[in-house]
Amino acid sequence: WKGGTVSVYRYGGGIIPRFSEVGNQFPESREFHTLRVQPPAGNYYTTDMLRQLGDSWEKWGSGLVTFHGQTGNIMFIGTSTDNTQHFFDEVNEYGWDLGGAGPCVRTAMSCVGAARCEQSCANEHKIHRALVNNFTDDVHRPALPYKFKFKVSGCPNDCMNAIERADMAVIGTWRDDMKVDQEEWKKYVAEKGRQHVIDNIITRCPTQSLALKDDDSIEVDNRNCVRCMHCLNVVPKALSTGDDKGVTILMGGKRTLKIGDLMGTVVIPFMKLESEEDYERIVELAEETIDFWAENGLEHERCGEMIERIGLVNFLEGIGVDVDPNMVANPRECSYVRMDGWDDEAIKWFERKAE
Ligand code: SF4
Ligand code: SF4
Repeated sequence: WKGGTVSVYRYGGGIIPRFSEVGNQFPESREFHTLRVQPPAGNYYTTDMLRQLGDSWEKWGSGLVTFHGQTGNIMFIGTSTDNTQHFFDEVNEYGWDLGGAGPCVRTAMSCVGAARCEQSCANEHKIHRALVNNFTDDVHRPALPYKFKFKVSGCPNDCMNAIERADMAVIGTWRDDMKVDQEEWKKYVAEKGRQHVIDNIITRCPTQSLALKDDDSIEVDNRNCVRCMHCLNVVPKALSTGDDKGVTILMGGKRTLKIGDLMGTVVIPFMKLESEEDYERIVELAEETIDFWAENGLEHERCGEMIERIGLVNFLEGIGVDVDPNMVANPRECSYVRMDGWDDEAIKWFERKAE
């Protein structure tokens, strides 16, 4: 393929141009552009919607569609420059919008979530919509240092790979004790045997927070549980997430570019998301972050790379978040924050806790 640009009226991105280098020999391959279209939050479709999209694409494009590309978009692969605008107008008319491409806020992703998954600790789709709807301009008009991705996972299983791949990852969690149904647990032990339970659950807890008692009940050391989800995934009937639910927010995850892959760093260890004000807070945090990165990021520098370059403390100061000892790179390891000014920050933290 050779370079070129294709866009639709009033949009600066969302289409990946494909002009063939051998268009003269093979005229039918001359133009084969891809349109990125944003899926619904959680990828919930009705068959009517899918048929409608399929019919439009058969009319204006090749009929080839990917659900979904790595970017999270529906990828409509293969159309000519002329038909790009026709297809967009038609699907836009019945409610679809282009996704992001280039240095902009990209199409967000959220997991299937509370409607179908018992592990969910958040309203994934509301978070998804709150963030994306606020940044629609930044999706369609690329004006940032590079790409910025939101991904929302309803629990620490992180089915959206938000930690590894999102500049801002929102992950559901809980802060009280996990719920234990001892009857169900004992049934599981009776069915599988103590040896199986010890080998496959108890000893696989990364923080040794589980104990199998002599009467076959289970004891959970909730203070040391790091929410790895292993035990809850294996015995979902007996173990479930707590009631005091909220989200953890991480910033700076990304795949390899200037520096290697980065996992997101926890910047908000726990935040309730219940009232409209809570949702406004999360949108404000995203705005602060994108504004700060837009001002301070170098060209083609992801947010995580900027954090590495300027230091986490400077980044936190820039977005107005206080340093917190819960901000760690790995549970049970040394803190990820720099230690200069640590004593002052520690005093402030204890003062806040005492309020
Ligand atoms: S991330 Fe958690 S809540 Fe979301 S689909 Fe996966 S297991 Fe369920
Ligand atoms: S969720 Fe993970 S860390 Fe927590 S008790 Fe279960 S296995 Fe251990």
